Amino acid sequence: MALIGFIGLGRMGRPMASNLCRKGFELVVHDVNRAAVADLQKLGARVAGSSREVAEAGEIILTMLPNSEIVREVVHDILPVVRKGSLIMDMSTIDPLVTDSLAKDAAGRGIAFVDAPVGRLASHADRGECLFMVGGAEADFQRVKPLLEAMGTTIHHCGPAGNGTRTKIVNNYLAIVSCQTNAEALALAQRFGLSIEKTLDVIYGTTAVNGQLKIAWPAKVLAGDIEPGFTVDLAHKDLTLIVQAANAAKVPMPVGAAAREAFNVARSRGFGPKDFSVMVDALCELAGIEKPRLEKKA
Ligand code: NAD
Repeated sequence: MALIGFIGLGRMGRPMASNLCRKGFELVVHDVNRAAVADLQKLGARVAGSSREVAEAGEIILTMLPNSEIVREVVHDILPVVRKGSLIMDMSTIDPLVTDSLAKDAAGRGIAFVDAPVGRLASHADRGECLFMVGGAEADFQRVKPLLEAMGTTIHHCGPAGNGTRTKIVNNYLAIVSCQTNAEALALAQRFGLSIEKTLDVIYGTTAVNGQLKIAWPAKVLAGDIEPGFTVDLAHKDLTLIVQAANAAKVPMPVGAAAREAFNVARSRGFGPKDFSVMVDALCELAGIEKPRLEKKA
């Protein structure tokens, strides 16, 4: 069986790599944060001292890193030592133009490149229920499919390398912007003195509903849990990517740009490391409104 390299064991990478280990794949892992590798070591993964060490050993190398700059740095660092015929699969959310250039650099060295950014929440990653949006040649897609099946339940092949990332950008635009509109709606409901339970009951039965409000928020901010999940900092990074990518393609994104600045306000008020559902708390704090919370069921 091919040895799988995994670089980046944060909130998403750790459960994803753990699910690979549990399902019988042999892993060699690395994270710059030494504490992050402990869980994987317990599950039998080999711990490498650097990304290069992972790349030298692994036949398929997965990356799950915070942003474009770090992905570019790590991939450029490992490319010279990755064996010809191996495959790199980046699952981070990054600038599609960076994905394109890394795919080209890899191809120039006889190395396959697949982008497979992840949809859904960190809690889905914990349960092995990720959704993947995959870009890559058909043969490369087939090569990574068993790995994706071990980490997720829904796999979409969206076209050639770069199309996974582009699909993710479109998806995250709606998912992240809805957090800002949800925040505004719930702040208004609070100011009006409405019952949050009753208001949500109404919204859940109309076309105003969205996945953040229905699935994510009741378990996070509305339950008083603002630990990530997906941080405000990462959501701000994605909105920046989205607005940049849209600008590069000459597609105006006025709502996306406004939402990006709202996320920046939340960051400037110290909410950056918190779950992105905390946008409603940030807005309520700014407006002097009590933070909305669902009553705990006995
Ligand atoms: P995270 O910050 O929790 O994890 C990133 C990990 O990468 C950290 O453990 C960090 O130490 C490690 N790292 C940073 N630089 C490194 C380097 N040079 N070499 C090795 N390791 C390095 O982030 P996350 O929430 O796991 O997200 C990872 C990616 O997935 C991001 O692009 C994010 O946008 C995307 N994503 C996140 C979620 C979510 O709900 N958290 C969902 C879908 C997609």
